[in-house]
Parts: sequence; structure tokens; C-alpha cells
Amino acid sequence: MNSVWLDSVNRFDNLGSLNEDVEADICIIGAGIFGATCAYYLSKLGYKTIVLEKDDIATKTTAFTTGKITSQHGLFYSYLIKTFGLSFAKDYFDSNEEAINNIVNIIEDEKINCDLELQNNYVYTASASSIPAIEEEISAVQSLGGSCEFTTTTSFPFKIKGAACFKNQAQFNPLKYVHALCQKSIDRGTTFYINTVATNIEKHGELYQTFANNHIITSKYVIVASHYPFMKLPGFYFSKMYQSTSYIIAIDAKKTLPNGMYICSDVPHFSFRTAKFNGKRILLIGGFEHKTGLPVSYKDSYGALENEAKSLYPECEVLYKWSTEDCISLDKVPYIGSYSPTLPNVFVGTGFKKWGMTLSNVAANIIVDKIQNVDNKYAEIYCSSRFDAFKNFKEFKNMMVQSANSLIFNKLKPSEEDFEEIPNDSGGIIQINKEKVGIYKDVNGKVFAVKPICTHLGCLLSWNDVDKTWDCPCHGSRYDFSGKNIYNPAFDDLETYDIN
Ligand SMILES: Cc1cc2nc3c(=O)[nH]c(=O)nc-3n(C[C@H](O)[C@H](O)[C@H](O)COP(=O)(O)OP(=O)(O)OC[C@H]3O[C@@H](n4cnc5c(N)ncnc54)[C@H](O)[C@@H]3O)c2cc1C
Repeated sequence: MNSVWLDSVNRFDNLGSLNEDVEADICIIGAGIFGATCAYYLSKLGYKTIVLEKDDIATKTTAFTTGKITSQHGLFYSYLIKTFGLSFAKDYFDSNEEAINNIVNIIEDEKINCDLELQNNYVYTASASSIPAIEEEISAVQSLGGSCEFTTTTSFPFKIKGAACFKNQAQFNPLKYVHALCQKSIDRGTTFYINTVATNIEKHGELYQTFANNHIITSKYVIVASHYPFMKLPGFYFSKMYQSTSYIIAIDAKKTLPNGMYICSDVPHFSFRTAKFNGKRILLIGGFEHKTGLPVSYKDSYGALENEAKSLYPECEVLYKWSTEDCISLDKVPYIGSYSPTLPNVFVGTGFKKWGMTLSNVAANIIVDKIQNVDNKYAEIYCSSRFDAFKNFKEFKNMMVQSANSLIFNKLKPSEEDFEEIPNDSGGIIQINKEKVGIYKDVNGKVFAVKPICTHLGCLLSWNDVDKTWDCPCHGSRYDFSGKNIYNPAFDDLETYDIN
């Protein structure tokens, strides 16, 4: 899978993997936008920092994002006020507004060429029945001292009934930005190790030992920037977070495109933004989210986006299709802070719920302040040790039922698929001698066989015929058709069988 962003940067060609024990002030695990932002700030402060990256710099969620930089996270502020109160919601709003400024300032100060453009952001509805929710949101934002306007027109060729507009938001090419942050950090002495998988962290007195590639990194602080935290215990993040997948297509509309970033407040939450690519202005259309690991069809994902594109721009050409996933906490607020009370100087930032451009900056600032022992007025609302299943009991129950099914009941059910009936370029689970075996046949009929059991907690995987991956319905780990792990929290590949 490829994205516009991945095709617009060159890979770093001078990074190696960890092959010795090392010492540092800070060890960062993961080089997506969050890990890269932490590395950038810490390098400016002169800390000796190393970054461990399982694959390559920013090739996971950050590489497949939409890249809108906004504090308008859907219709979110009325929810926050109702659930947590005014002061909490104001801190959330202010922290994300500050993050936009921080990102713009970094880009200007460091002269980063990442196609930054100031844009208005709109949450719109095409349904009259959703207007009260839009109006309620506008009042909520205004009660926080924010500016949010009602409008009934957009410059896009679709009709709306109304929209809440945040002015002075922004969009950029997220990978050009992240690559520049990494390069600036490298220039200031940070070392990045790629193809280096962190597998555990242990506390030894005042120091921490991180284990990766059969070597040990000893540091005073560790930042877990691996998207979904890879360590099960302590922390228990797997019991308070799930992952959600969405789809994006990039089109050449063959027409002049208007300005603005848009997201629909109603399902399927269509999202639009333009982007600069190869000297042209193209359009990204996103949407069709579902819990990672649940069944999905082409028709209900890329197919539906293509239909939307054709209905708006009949002459359009689809240039790219991609999907990715993000972590959602039970109460929809990220977890930022200490990984667990027993690991006080190990920090985490996760649960960015598809708004990680600003939230990763908020997280990096909170954690860098903690390392420097500086008070951060936003730290409390994001406190990572909270666990309140009742804020979203419906999703908590869903998670528990899904886990019980995938861990126990579905494993006991005999597989109904037959090897012969699996067509080329498709997959499924068959039964061989009472053992479940995951089969993928490539376009030429070559067979890839895996043990379809997630290496994280042992859940039964499901075949995703849209992206040709093995997906975990429990916590959202994903593997390619050959069993190579792509997404966390699992980090080990699947066991494979040679049955050709
Ligand atoms: C479809 C979609 C659209 C989105 N659009 C927007 C948007 O418009 N605006 C917005 O603000 N947000 C958006 N988001 C959210 C945003 O993209 C994410 O929140 C953000 O990219 C997450 O960054 P990250 O650094 O936490 O994770 P990642 O980019 O996934 O980085 C984590 C890194 O850690 C590495 N890693 C994992 N495990 C280990 C290990 N054990 N050892 C070493 N390294 C490890 C991984 O390989 C990876 O490189 C979107 C999300 C989705 C799903």
C-alpha cells in the first residue's frame, strides 16, 4: 500500500539498525509524528536521545493520515462539556489551538518545506435533522471562548444544510514535516535506529532498560511512541482502547478545486481536503470507518469513496487508495503521561482518535515538560492512568464480548471454508487436522499459509479481503498476507507453514 505522502519523500538512506548496547538520556520507541516531535523538542534542549523504529521512519499511521491540522475534532466540544465540564473542555480546546501555532512556528522557524497552507475547517451536515447538533456545537465552542461560525454554503460541489466553521486551521504534507523533524534532530545529535523492535522495558533503580534486537538501551527516561502501546503489563492499555480503520482515496478531479477542509458530522463521515502533488492540486476523500478486524467489503470502503468521487467529479481519475487505523480511548480523550505508576519515568502518548496532528504535539509538549520537571497546565486532562469504563460502557462491553469471542468461542468453532473454494487473490481460514490455518492465494495461485492467531494476546484473526491482511478483532493488530506484522500492539510476525 502506498500514499501520496510516502511517494513525496525520499527514504533516509543512512540509518542502520541497533547492533550494540547503548546509553542515552532518553529512549523513544517509534518514529511516527509523535516520536519525531518528541525527538525534535528534546534535541533542541540538548538531551542525548535515541529513537528505536520497528520498520522505517513514519511508515505506519502517520504515512496514511489525511494531515489536517485542526482543533475541530468533529462535533466534540458539546460532548466534552457534557461529559467532563467546561474547564476540561476549555483545556482541550486551548491545548489543540496552541498545538496548531506550535506546528506553524516550527515550520516557519526551521524553514520546513511541507506544503503548509492555512485553511478553514468545516464540520458539515447534509441533513436538516442534524442542524441542532451543529448549532449546539457552535454554542459549546463559543462558551469556551473559541470562534466558530455557522454557514450554509461551502465552496465544494455538494449541497449542505449547515456547517460549523473554524477559521485559521491548516493542512500540510505530514511526511515532509516528519522527515524534516527527524533530520533536524539528527543534525543536533539524535540517533535513529530503524528495523529495531523494542520488546520490553524494565526498571533498574533510577534507570530503565529497553530491550530491542537482542541489545539493551539504558536510559533515564523512555517515551513509548509506538502508536498502540506494545507492552501489555503494566498499563493495561489493551483493556481501555480499541482501534478504528478508515479509508482514503486521492483523485485528480480534472477540475479546479476549491479551498477548505471538510468532514461530515453524519455517518459515513466523509472527509475532504486538497493537497499539492506533482505540481497539481489533488483531492483526498476519506471515510467509512469501522472497528479494525471487523468484516469489510470493497463496495463499503474504497468502492463507496470512488462512487462519491465520481458523483462529484465525473471525469476524475483515482490516483491512490489507502487505509490506516488509529487508537480510540474509551472516553475519546488521549492517554498522555506516565505509562504506569510502577514505571514513573516511562511516558506514553496514544489514543489520538484520528486527530493526531495536533494531539501528538500536545502530547510531546506535556512529556517534554515532565522530563524537565516543568508544570504543564494541560497534563491533567490527558492523565494516562485513568480508567473509566462507564464513560463509554457500550464500547467497553463490545470490547469484552469481541475479545471473548475471538479468544475462546470462535477458536472452538470448526472453520467453514474449504481450501479449493478460496479464489486467487483472496484468503480464509481452513481446518487441517483440527488446527486452524490461514490461507492466502496470490493472483497466480501461490499459497501463503499462516497460523491465524494474534501474537499479542492469542485472538483468532480475521481475513481482510480489501487490503489483503490478517486483522485482529480484539485490539487491532494487523499482519500482511505472508504473516509479517504491520500494526501494533503485536510486534511478532505470525507463525507460517510451507504447504506449496
Ligand atoms: C484514516 C485516518 C485519517 C487521519 N487523518 C487525520 C487528520 O486529518 N488530522 C489529524 O490530526 N489526525 C489524523 N489522523 C490521526 C493521525 O494520523 C494519527 O493519530 C497519528 O498519525 C499517529 O501518530 P503516531 O506517531 O502515534 O503513530 P504512528 O505513525 O503509527 O507511529 C508509531 C511508530 O512506532 C513504531 N513502532 C511500533 N511498535 C514498535 C516497537 N515495538 N518498537 C519500535 N517501534 C515501534 C511503528 O513502526 C511506527 O512507525 C488520521 C487517522 C486515520 C486512521
